[in-house]
Amino acid sequence: MRYISTRSLPGDPGAPFCDIVLEGLAPDGGLYLPVSYPQIGERLPELRRIWETEGYAGLGFTILSEFIDDIPAEDLRGICQRAWNADVFGSPEVAPVEELRDGLWLCHLSNGPTAAFKDMAMQLLGQLFEYELGRRGREMNIVGATSGDTGSAAEYAMRGRQHIRVFMLTPKGRMTPFQQAQMFSIDDPAITNIAVDGVFDDCQDLVKAVSNDLAFKAEHSIGAVNSINWARLVAQVVYYVAAWVQVTGSDEQEVSFCVPSGNFGNICAGHVARQMGLPIRTLLLATNENNVLDEFFRTGVYRVRSSDETLETSSPSMDISKASNFERFVFDLLGRDGERVADLFGVQLAQQGFFDLSETDEFRSLQEDFGFASGSSTHADRVATIQQVWDECGVMIDPHTADGVKVATSTEPVEVPMVVLETALPVKFAATIREALDREPEVPAAFAHLDALPRHVVDLPKDVEALKALIVSKVSTSPV
Ligand SMILES: *Cc1c(COP(=O)(O)O)cnc(C)c1O
Repeated sequence: MRYISTRSLPGDPGAPFCDIVLEGLAPDGGLYLPVSYPQIGERLPELRRIWETEGYAGLGFTILSEFIDDIPAEDLRGICQRAWNADVFGSPEVAPVEELRDGLWLCHLSNGPTAAFKDMAMQLLGQLFEYELGRRGREMNIVGATSGDTGSAAEYAMRGRQHIRVFMLTPKGRMTPFQQAQMFSIDDPAITNIAVDGVFDDCQDLVKAVSNDLAFKAEHSIGAVNSINWARLVAQVVYYVAAWVQVTGSDEQEVSFCVPSGNFGNICAGHVARQMGLPIRTLLLATNENNVLDEFFRTGVYRVRSSDETLETSSPSMDISKASNFERFVFDLLGRDGERVADLFGVQLAQQGFFDLSETDEFRSLQEDFGFASGSSTHADRVATIQQVWDECGVMIDPHTADGVKVATSTEPVEVPMVVLETALPVKFAATIREALDREPEVPAAFAHLDALPRHVVDLPKDVEALKALIVSKVSTSPV
């Protein structure tokens, strides 16, 4: 399988998986996608059998094999087994499902080391990076910025991996106490937590300044683990298949998914699964008050927001101003026309801040051809939904999952099973749980003693030279 950019011209031969896995954006500014989607529609009975006999990792290996042909099969199988197992994810199913009430299901994706669904993909990425860097005899210094879930998922996936160091910038004093405890308690010389005197955008500017210094980047093997990485996306395809197998009894039966969305990574994997022939009827996209994507699916206009227009909500991991993976879907929507995508994302968005597809045939047939629908939710909806699911089903859900349940239960009559993807555990968002239920969230055993552990974090001014000096000194003192 070869990979092309969403902005590529016809005839582009593309690159093999292992050449793009360590990269972020394609050189032309687009995002990588496979040249075609492998088809699994005829193989559903086999996939069901593999799930029953070999479990999540076996299913994951089978699906990934369709996309990755430049890693020997036994190596890839080992990578999947180390990424996805009961020790890491707390149950043999890895992504178990639970029926809340007739036809409404949760798929639990948050039982990994950092209690958010990003672990599902990041654990695979950690294994893939270690493997590929080892093969190439290289090391990588991952430099990233986080306001919460991504950074900690990356640190927990990369800790202990050979050839990899992580430098993670956080806005000082601006993460929740749980998020701080989770990241700063990591005691590993290859993982450096950095508290920057500033806000999240300042952190991101510093990361950009480092990676835009091409000489520094090359000399010190600077890399990233951002949400547009193709391996993260393909890893997420696996749980759509696992959820479908668990919820359905026959191979013809369709399900719908409702996905709390921010950067469009999670639901884009659902789109890929549907293109591969998994029987998905509707992909229902849920946003919070930052409804950039809901607006597009309702109106055909994609208008990115400024940081002033981006609200701070009680489902903070969905507080986005633009959706970094969205370009992948638009590429498919427009019949894989890279020139049009380059114009929309590279020219129109850059110049006027929006593009408008409302008058196109592609947008008019979007729901029929691609199964997408959308809805949005507010703080009051989240609180009411957390209460309702707790009172009626005895299940405590986090505010992001609540956005999903709210949209799932208010938009569609349930004709086929509706699976809401759970994206985090309540323990990460205690304040909203207290507001909704007047009680503390359940604390899984793994997190019970986090608060008591010593903190490992370096303070840094908003200064790129100081950041570079820190990286250089760490690289010379902590071998990986
Ligand atoms: C990242 C995240 C999301 C949004 O997922 P995308 O792939 O960016 O759409 C939703 N909920 C939680 C808890 C997250 O961490």
